[in-house]
Amino acid sequence: HDTDGSGQDRPWREKKSGSINYSAYKADIVYLTVDEHMQVDELRKIARIEGCGQTLSFVKTDKGMKLYQTWFCKKRLCPLCAWRRSKKQAMELHQILDLAVEQEPNAEFLFLTLTEENATAQDLKTELQNMNRSLYRLRQYKDVSRDLIGTVRATEITVNDQNGTYHQHVHMLLMVKSSYFKAGHYLSQQRWSKLWRRARRLDYDPVVNVKKVRPNARKGTNSLTAAAQEVAKYQVKSSAYMTDDDVRNREVIMVLENALDHSRALGFSGLLKQIRHDLKLDTAESEDDLIGGDGAPKEGSGLKSVVYTWDKDVSNYLFGGSWTN
Ligand SMILES: [Zn+2]
Repeated sequence: HDTDGSGQDRPWREKKSGSINYSAYKADIVYLTVDEHMQVDELRKIARIEGCGQTLSFVKTDKGMKLYQTWFCKKRLCPLCAWRRSKKQAMELHQILDLAVEQEPNAEFLFLTLTEENATAQDLKTELQNMNRSLYRLRQYKDVSRDLIGTVRATEITVNDQNGTYHQHVHMLLMVKSSYFKAGHYLSQQRWSKLWRRARRLDYDPVVNVKKVRPNARKGTNSLTAAAQEVAKYQVKSSAYMTDDDVRNREVIMVLENALDHSRALGFSGLLKQIRHDLKLDTAESEDDLIGGDGAPKEGSGLKSVVYTWDKDVSNYLFGGSWTN
């Protein structure tokens, strides 16, 4: 079962440090790009990012420590928020897939990666929008739609430092009827490439990878869980803008924030979209909640609360007290 660890566990410290670095880059960007008389207001907004995950309240359960209260800045590129978001999305996706398999026990899963040529910093936003429209077209093609039950996709962007371009590509989990594997229905990798070329309106054959997901294939891990984690993993890894080169990192942050503005981390279709809706995971309130769980422990529950507070000077969370509820 998923638990949060305590404030002093490595991911918390590491992600919070990343978040502090991110806020420092954001401040640099303000100094470099915003009019002098507007800077104070903008810097005040950025000071809020510095407060992301400042104080963490956990409840000790028999399954481990569970976060129940903090304040998150919710910025897309904040390493702390991105980590929480991807964990949460992986758990939700797992829940959705379990229900989907219950409803369609004979369904099969495919893991599809669709790529295209890199985009320049200038074109990235437009290319991402076009890519999403192309995914819609791809799902409508008869060859695809006749066996399709539902999909979930994540868009990943990596940075090519050799030439300063951006590599945008799509990871998609497809839930298909078993008829997909019948003669005349099955689509080869080459066929997928042709379909993606048509949907994406390219003048070259794009690199496409498709593989069947085999549940329970490996010991210990359910490959459906692995596929869910793969899809839900960071859209942009924070390592992409946390290199040794500050000038470059600032540039990458500006480009990515502009390109990702108003875009969705995960996109659902078909049965998976329906189940997500039925579970009320698609509400603004649910999408905004990076804490999860059942809230603060009730008084008299006997459960123990433990608090950690970030300390700038030691760059770590320090124990801030505990009590029994
Ligand atoms: Zn944050």
